[in-house]
Parts: sequence; structure tokens; C-alpha cells
Amino acid sequence: MPPARVRFAPSPTGRLHIGGARTALYNVLLAKQTGGQFILRIEDTDVKRTVPGALEELQAGLRWLGLDWQEGPDIGGPHAPYSQQPRKALYQRHAEELIARGHAYRCFCSAERLQQVREAQQQAKQSPRYDGTCRGLSPAEADRRAAAGEPFTIRFKTPKDGTTTAHDHVRGDITVDNTTLDDFILVKSDGLALYHLAAMVDDHEMGITHVLRGTEWLGTFPLHALILRAFGWPEPVWCHLSVFLKPSGKGKMSKRDVTSEQSIYVAELKELGYLPEAVNSWIALMGASFGAEEELLGLDEMAARFDLGNLNPSAARVNFEKLDDFNGKWIRRLSVDDLAARAQPFFEKAGLAPDPALLRRVTPLIQARIVTLDDAVEMAGFFFRAAVAPRPEALAIKGQTPAQGRAALQAARAGLAAVPAWTHADLEAPMRALADGLGLKAGQFFGLLRAAVTGQTVSPPLFECMELIGRETTLSRLAQAE
Ligand code: GLU
Repeated sequence: MPPARVRFAPSPTGRLHIGGARTALYNVLLAKQTGGQFILRIEDTDVKRTVPGALEELQAGLRWLGLDWQEGPDIGGPHAPYSQQPRKALYQRHAEELIARGHAYRCFCSAERLQQVREAQQQAKQSPRYDGTCRGLSPAEADRRAAAGEPFTIRFKTPKDGTTTAHDHVRGDITVDNTTLDDFILVKSDGLALYHLAAMVDDHEMGITHVLRGTEWLGTFPLHALILRAFGWPEPVWCHLSVFLKPSGKGKMSKRDVTSEQSIYVAELKELGYLPEAVNSWIALMGASFGAEEELLGLDEMAARFDLGNLNPSAARVNFEKLDDFNGKWIRRLSVDDLAARAQPFFEKAGLAPDPALLRRVTPLIQARIVTLDDAVEMAGFFFRAAVAPRPEALAIKGQTPAQGRAALQAARAGLAAVPAWTHADLEAPMRALADGLGLKAGQFFGLLRAAVTGQTVSPPLFECMELIGRETTLSRLAQAE
């Protein structure tokens, strides 16, 4: 397959969510696989809807996922600029060309008149659309009115009979009845092009070979094909990706369908402690198959297996358990150094300042026990806190008095103080013997020690924790708990 030129073309109107990230991912995979280019283009023709900070969050999210672009607003490229507002004159020139070719016309109807037409159509239970008043103006008349300074929009002259068929690689031919199509606006009266024209001009100018985008564009897709055909331009391979359904499988996914531990936004998934590798694996499989037994593929492996023929048109249920599963598995695949470095900021966010050398030693104890990086703090924060605060009930032995609990802790402290070498292997045997001596089950006694030393009821293996915490701190925490 020749090198593909593909693009992700978000509008800076919201946050990067898993739907957008998946679109970007599939585009990246196709570019990687074919040795082509992935282009980031910002579609900012709708000035009013632009959200400050959206562009920055979008770029940060893509970078975090490793979905790097070869041309884009920040790095430029042969078709710069890669946002649409500064390309206004280019779109105007192309709109003029469509007028000259008889595929577009100037419309001088005022907003008030259009409103009246709409209302009349609504009353007559017709779907609202332009009534075609200016479609029949002679070019000379239209030129004269424009030259006299009358404001106008430029509309596309959609065919009024027959059908339009465009080919979607995922779903096959999509055919619309032309009587359902409106003479949609290409350029507004302020001279700024609307998305439909701008996107098609850019796709052509930028040499886009494949358009992989969200399925919400399936309805508009024949219009886009009509624009390209009106210019006489070749069409790219169109792939409209599947939609995401709520975790329940009922209805389209939205941000209201998540708990506080979940998110559909890339920036929040990062904050929650998910790895970019896991997010990529997760979204990749919602809408495509990679022909491999192995679910956890890196970007290069996915790119090698990516196949446009394996894009799935059916809606995919968003399954957060699967994300957790993938994240835990990816965490276990990381090297200890890598995991420690990735976990470090999560401890810092919790107000702790772990010594990197100690964190490096703690990491193997938690690697198999955490699902997210944030879990590392819950599981191992006690290593880095000055003091721990076990709940009193955790320091009591079931069926015994508080004094008996204290006595057991004292005995442990004395026993541990006397252990010659402070290694977990050397700590365990005397403590098992002591449990016997106290008439306690090892599990009961160790639970008590765990609470005193870690402040938790769940922790990595107790004696390995003690070894890393060190003799002094272990003994002082026991004393504190007595
Ligand atoms: N700007 C459009 C969006 O944000 C892009 C549609 C397309 O990829 O053609 O969804």
C-alpha cells in the first residue's frame, strides 16, 4: 500500500475524549503502517464555539498517548497553517471557483427572510431548508448585487433530483435521495467558510488519501462527496468509525455514564493513573480487530496488524473493567525502573516526597497488586509517611482485651529488636514462633503487626515491608501502636 496521508481534524470546542483518541489512533496506525504522514489539523471555523485551552489539552492528550503528528499547528509543515481561520482566503477562492463552475451561487436572502421561510415550513410540517430564491439569479445579477455591496452567503447548488451515492469503506455504498439535500452554506456573509467547504478544500490541498472519522459524519458524507466531485477532485477512502455505547450497552456513551473512578476524557484517565499503553489497547479494540491472540499490543505492533478491512461498523460497548484489566497487565509488563518513575508523580500529588531509591525498592512489592498508578499511593504510601494512623479496631485481637493486643505488640517489638539480620526471611520465622507462643493464629498476629506498621489492613507482604521500612521505623511504629 502506498504511503497514506491521514489527518485528525478536531474542532477546539471541547475535551479530547476516547472517541476522538480512537479516531486519532487509527489514523496514526495507518500512517505508521504505510510509512505515510499523520496530520493534525484544527478545524476552528466556528469561532463562537472555540473553547480556550481546548487546543492545548488536545495536543497534550495526543502526545501522552504517543500519537505524534508529522505536520500540525505547532510544528508546521508543507501545507501550513494547520488551522482554518488563517486559511480564509483559500476557501473564498475555492468558493468562487465553484460559482464559476455552476456548482454554487450567491444568496442575498436576509436572516429575517430565512427565518420566515423556516417558520412557514415548520407550520407546514416540512423539514426546514433553503427555498431556493437566489438559486435562479443570473450570474450577472448576482455579480451586480455583490458589487453594490449587498451582503451574501455562498451556497452549494445541490442536485434537485436523482440520488447521490458515496462509498464508505466500512459500510459500503451510502445513497441519499437528492430531494432531501439542502443548498447548504459554504461561506458565511462575513466571508468565513463553514466546515464542509473548509474540510474538503484542506483534505484536497493536503493530499489526504484516507479519511477515518467519527460516525456522526456519516450523514453529511454525501455532501462532502458532492463538493469533491464539483471540483473534479478524487475522493479519499472514507471510513466512518463505530459509535461507543454506554457500559450498559443501552444508548450512546456520554460523560454522564461514568463514576468518579472512570472517565471518557484522556486528561482524566491520565490523572486516574491509567497508562497510555493501556488506553491505546483499550480504545483500539473498540471498533477494530487486530487478528492477534494477544490483546496488549504496542503502537508499532498494532500498526503492523492494522487492517482497514477489520474496522467494525457495529457500535462498541465501553467496558471500564476491560480498561482496568489492561492497565494492570500493562503495569506488570513495565520494568521496575519505569513503573517507579511513572508512580512517583502520584505520590507527589498525594503530598508525599518518596525517595526515588526507596520507591525503586518498594515497586516490585506492589507491581502485581495495583490496577492504576494511583493505587500505588494507597498501597504503599505508608513507606513514605512520617507516621501511620492505624484504626484502633485494627489493633485489637478478636475476642481478646485491648491490653492483650498491646502485650502482643510489645512482645513483637522485643522479638524484632533481637533479630540479628534485618531481612524479611530472618523476620518471619521468629514472628511465627511468637504467634504460637501467644496462642494466636499467624494470620491474626500478622494482621495486628500489619496494622501497626503500615496503618493498613491490606499491604504488600508484611516482612518485606518491614525490611524496607527498616528496623528503627518498624520498632517505633510498633511502640506507637502499643
Ligand atoms: N472537525 C470535525 C470534528 O471535530 C472533523 C470531521 C472530519 O474529520 O471530517 O468532528
